[in-house]
Amino acid sequence: METGLLGVWAGILAGDFLRYALVAAATFVLIVVWWGLRRHRKTQTGRATPTDIRREITYSLLTVVIFSLNGLLLHLGNEAGVFEVYLDVSRHGWPFLVFSGIVIVVVHDTYFYWLHRLLHQPLIFRLAHRVHHRSHAPTPWAAYAFHPIEAAFQAAFLPLFALLMPLHLGVVLFFVWHMMIRNAVGHSGYEVFPQGWTGRPIASWITAVTHHDLHHEKASGNFGLYFTWWDRLFDTERPDYETRFDHATNAPSPEDRPAQETP
Ligand SMILES: [Zn+2]
Ligand SMILES: [Zn+2]
Repeated sequence: METGLLGVWAGILAGDFLRYALVAAATFVLIVVWWGLRRHRKTQTGRATPTDIRREITYSLLTVVIFSLNGLLLHLGNEAGVFEVYLDVSRHGWPFLVFSGIVIVVVHDTYFYWLHRLLHQPLIFRLAHRVHHRSHAPTPWAAYAFHPIEAAFQAAFLPLFALLMPLHLGVVLFFVWHMMIRNAVGHSGYEVFPQGWTGRPIASWITAVTHHDLHHEKASGNFGLYFTWWDRLFDTERPDYETRFDHATNAPSPEDRPAQETP
């Protein structure tokens, strides 16, 4: 690899690493530690051990490397004119930029849902997805804890989507940061969405923390990432989703519990 290209890859690798480390650490401190101390929004019955967290970080770092190679592929494809990642907004205008930002999230959710259904086929599950499910009570560090095969398929979305339409660099950055934040919060084990969220007509389309958390606890149903509509359309939403969400958001705080129940 020539020096210039090595520098580009190092930059992408540093960006991917920092995004994972900063968002997972911030989510861990703000939601797990802070909410954990308050202890009234926990969605999980189990608890991650230090071994679980070490495994989540190790596999996530491997994913960071795979994602950075994918970023390099996007860079090379852009240089070769296969994809168009542009900097000048006026090239396609603001309405297109906003449109592409919305479409990439919606299409990614669709890609994720179907890839995830495929990953749950018994043979493929054992080979490529079991690693992610070793976290029965995940933490934000599990956000990228994929088997390298799964990581490669997760990464493939961005270059595949870039074949469909030009992407402003800002849209690419919005996409990866939004994905990382939703992933870290979704694995936090604490319900941060407001009470009644799952019963609201439009808000309920957005997955709450309990949604993916139940997927880890039961290893079936709730395959969606950002939205609930594919699970609802294909009847894969877990029947206990709303009940568990209500439980996580209604459980009394330690102040409300009788004194003898407080450890
Ligand atoms: Zn799964
Ligand atoms: Zn997960």
